[in-house]
Amino acid sequence: MNIHEYQAKQILRRYGVPVPRGDVAHTPAEAESVAEELDGPVWVVKAQIHAGGRGKAGGVKVCRSVKEVVATADKMLGMRLVTHQTGPEGKEVKRVYIEQGSEIARELYVAQLIDRKTGGIAIIASTEGGMDIEEVAANTPDKIIKVLLPPATPMQSFHARKVAFGLGLKDREVHKFVRLLVAMNKAFVENDASLIEINPLVVTKANKLIALDAKMTFDDNALFRHRDIEDLRDNDEADPLEVEAARHDLNYVKLEGDIGCMVNGAGLAMSTMDIIKLYGGKPANFMDIAGAATKERVACAFKLIFSDPEVKGILVNVFGGMMRCNSIAEGIVGAAKEVGLDRPLVVRLEGTNVDLGREILQGSGLPIITASTLSDAANKIVAAVNGQGSANNNHVGRA
Ligand code: ADP
Ligand code: MG
Repeated sequence: MNIHEYQAKQILRRYGVPVPRGDVAHTPAEAESVAEELDGPVWVVKAQIHAGGRGKAGGVKVCRSVKEVVATADKMLGMRLVTHQTGPEGKEVKRVYIEQGSEIARELYVAQLIDRKTGGIAIIASTEGGMDIEEVAANTPDKIIKVLLPPATPMQSFHARKVAFGLGLKDREVHKFVRLLVAMNKAFVENDASLIEINPLVVTKANKLIALDAKMTFDDNALFRHRDIEDLRDNDEADPLEVEAARHDLNYVKLEGDIGCMVNGAGLAMSTMDIIKLYGGKPANFMDIAGAATKERVACAFKLIFSDPEVKGILVNVFGGMMRCNSIAEGIVGAAKEVGLDRPLVVRLEGTNVDLGREILQGSGLPIITASTLSDAANKIVAAVNGQGSANNNHVGRA
């Protein structure tokens, strides 16, 4: 789960990471009262969306009077900001953050994230702050400093010092940096974060270290023990179908293709997506209805996939273990009758009560295409979506 910059800064401030003073505003009037509380002469108005690259896209503006802050907030609120991370459709700005302007001498980069290989925390830093770090890593890899913490071991100040020296920091800067990095690490561990990125971390002209931008991502599987973090969720930022799916405990991720998938088990869902691709199609989503799904949840999942206008056909691939094939079939038939089956539907069932399940599908009077194997199913849905009635031969292998 992601949160906004202002929320991440509030958390980091609590742990002792220096951030500029500021507050969030939803209206120009709120922006005015926030700006009045801060001391000039420079304020910065920042669009709060879950995407980086705002600076280059006009989502970060430096202002020199309260009046200018209000005018800027007025312009920014409600606008669609398109950055290299939002996709071409952009994101609507519903809140802005007003903060104290800093006098920047240098911009650094520092992040802590889970290292997938070791399971420990990796500290990544660079003197090239304010830039796209992927670009820095690709063009000048020697400018990236990486220090790995051994798994389940608290960060020690020598880890932080190693990074500080790598960044060329001197004297008192080193101490400030070590304190900041240790505070950042505490915030990371105690909140089950998977990423904290400060880009830029600036050295001001007065020689202070300040986090000017902050991004925090949390491990979804640990959110149950952080209700306070869960409360920071902004549903405006999520795909509406994903929000709806989460309400029903369905694991759903929207993708860019046109074949809707309804599968039980994450592994089977992944292989279903793979085989659709192998047969020349593109999955519209990942959907795991999980092992012990009920007839009602099957129906709900089905309706959800069907409500996506991008979906041109659905492939149901369910293995009945704990869940019986007849319940799955009943769920599908009930939901298909309710929404009206206006797109091709291919169903592959295997496992407990499979014969009963197939009977229910066949006796439903609905134009459901049944399939026996995974390849058969993929072949049939790709053909149906491409407007070819029967199985075609655009597959490249057998599975
Ligand atoms: P993004 O990464 O989305 O572009 P940032 O918060 O990193 O947004 O802001 C972009 C740039 O704007 C920063 O690199 C910095 O140069 C400048 N900036 C951001 N906040 C401030 C601030 N409080 N004072 C002065 N400059 C700022
Ligand atoms: Mg930034």
